[in-house]
Amino acid sequence: MEKSIFTRIMDGEIPARVEYEDEQVIVIHDIAPKAPVHLLIIPRKPIATLMDVQTEDLPLIGHIHVVAQKLANQLGLKGFRLINNCGKEGGQEVFHIHYHLLAGFQEEK
Ligand code: C5P
Repeated sequence: MEKSIFTRIMDGEIPARVEYEDEQVIVIHDIAPKAPVHLLIIPRKPIATLMDVQTEDLPLIGHIHVVAQKLANQLGLKGFRLINNCGKEGGQEVFHIHYHLLAGFQEEK
């Protein structure tokens, strides 16, 4: 199977601004941010879409949520959105599962 663009980033073949990494995930700044803070939490395991997640992957999916908490604490975020686009019709462009963490929207009065 051809390497996804995110695996190529993890392998150092394509540059990216890395915010955090551990043995299970890498977190990069999105190249085309849609919010003042726009991070991508990407598992090292190249699962194509959310529809391909298996029961054995549930600890990894849980870990992604803990990493989101860690990032929110580190960056002092008061709130954030955590979004997964699933499948072409769900707006997914890169077929290596990832979660968008978006924050820094203007507070509503
Ligand atoms: O959820 P979706 O697959 O549409 O999102 C892919 C995201 O990956 C886009 O927001 C795009 O800007 C980002 N990207 C990136 N660096 C790349 C290629 C894509 O941050 N080299």
